[in-house]
Amino acid sequence: MNDAAVTTPSTPSGLKARARRVLAQLDSVLPDVDALYGDLHEHPELSGQEARTAAQVARRLEAEGYEVTRNVGGHGVVGLLRNGDGPTVLLRGDMDALPVEEKTGLSYASRVRTEAGEPVMHACGHDVHTACLVGTAAVLARSRDAWRGTVMVVGQPAEETLTGAKAMLDAGLYARFGTPDAVLGQHTAPLPVGTFMHRDGVAMMGATQVRVRLFGRGAHGAQPELSVDPVVLGASVVLRLQTIVSRELSPLEAAVVTVGHFQAGSRANVIPDEALLEVTVRTEDDGVRSRVLAAIERIAKGEAAAAGAPKPPLVEVLNQGPVNRNDPALMGRVRDAHAEWFGREALVPGVLGTASEDFPYFARGPEHPVPTAYWFVGITPRKTWDAARGATPMEKVAHVPGPHSGFYAPDRAGSLRMGCESLTVAALACLHGGGGPGDH
Ligand SMILES: [Zn+2]
Ligand SMILES: [Zn+2]
Repeated sequence: MNDAAVTTPSTPSGLKARARRVLAQLDSVLPDVDALYGDLHEHPELSGQEARTAAQVARRLEAEGYEVTRNVGGHGVVGLLRNGDGPTVLLRGDMDALPVEEKTGLSYASRVRTEAGEPVMHACGHDVHTACLVGTAAVLARSRDAWRGTVMVVGQPAEETLTGAKAMLDAGLYARFGTPDAVLGQHTAPLPVGTFMHRDGVAMMGATQVRVRLFGRGAHGAQPELSVDPVVLGASVVLRLQTIVSRELSPLEAAVVTVGHFQAGSRANVIPDEALLEVTVRTEDDGVRSRVLAAIERIAKGEAAAAGAPKPPLVEVLNQGPVNRNDPALMGRVRDAHAEWFGREALVPGVLGTASEDFPYFARGPEHPVPTAYWFVGITPRKTWDAARGATPMEKVAHVPGPHSGFYAPDRAGSLRMGCESLTVAALACLHGGGGPGDH
């Protein structure tokens, strides 16, 4: 199908009627969505290790009649439901968890640790995304007379390492299963449950992780004159990196440069040979990203030269997630559909977050860009929200647990229902009507 299939407006009343018919199945689907969520929350799996989660997703999609393919780019799962002529709509949910210790105190809290003793938790809400993906797939499968087109359900691994989406595309996702006409994704957010946030244009910044290895010359801690001290060199680099955003970019160019990891030496009286820095860069624009990366390399080399280092530093990009840019027409369509289904008052004005995603890789079609839309689903329990300090929503957000916190605890029933409804309604806004009662 061509793009026109997606952008042809359906009458608002037609959409609402179709959504009613499809979501009439939700009450029968939600108990299993809840069971899946509880199970995934108790058994989180780190990026690249989502075997158990992927198996559960695949089994449920098969039970609903999807053609399922496993192990697409790691533990990726693809489910196809062909239901007559119409657009192909890709629904994406990410499945991986984080090395975070759960502190929610919930009865279904994760107690999982890796063999190395590292705690594991669904601290980014990907268990909500996965459960709602499966729930949406089920309601669509059970109401095939209400829509036409193809639904492509994608359970994506390894989002937190920004590698899973690219791995699925590199494994031939679009060549093997078809290039979709629209890609839809949603993420939990620390907004009150029952609210949604959409943003035109850039939804999230692009992220690049950079590793800088600085070489010095080790010596006895009491004989610094015999050394080139990589700790001092590293400290200079860390400070100088702070001038990229403050002195090299315009105040109107948004960017973040953070050194999250600085490792050197092992004891007080030994000057080590090397120092290692890991830097995360966030930008709203690819041109700004290139300038920031060039500046990091220039500063590392310059400081190493100034210190008399025995060899130049090694600067390498570890991974990157592109800028998450919503297609304006598709985003507008999804927002209008959500406004119609949930009411305008459920929509929160969009703000640009500095967090990142590998979702934008799905926009890279083989021939032309694929329209993508990505929105946020509030999951904070109303009681937690009402008790949070602050007068405005943005002040309150700072005082409730957010993604990557050990206290991140979505309102279970509300988040699952809202997540299923928002993804289903968005999918229906892109698919064709089934021609039955209620269509136009
Ligand atoms: Zn995350
Ligand atoms: Zn996430």
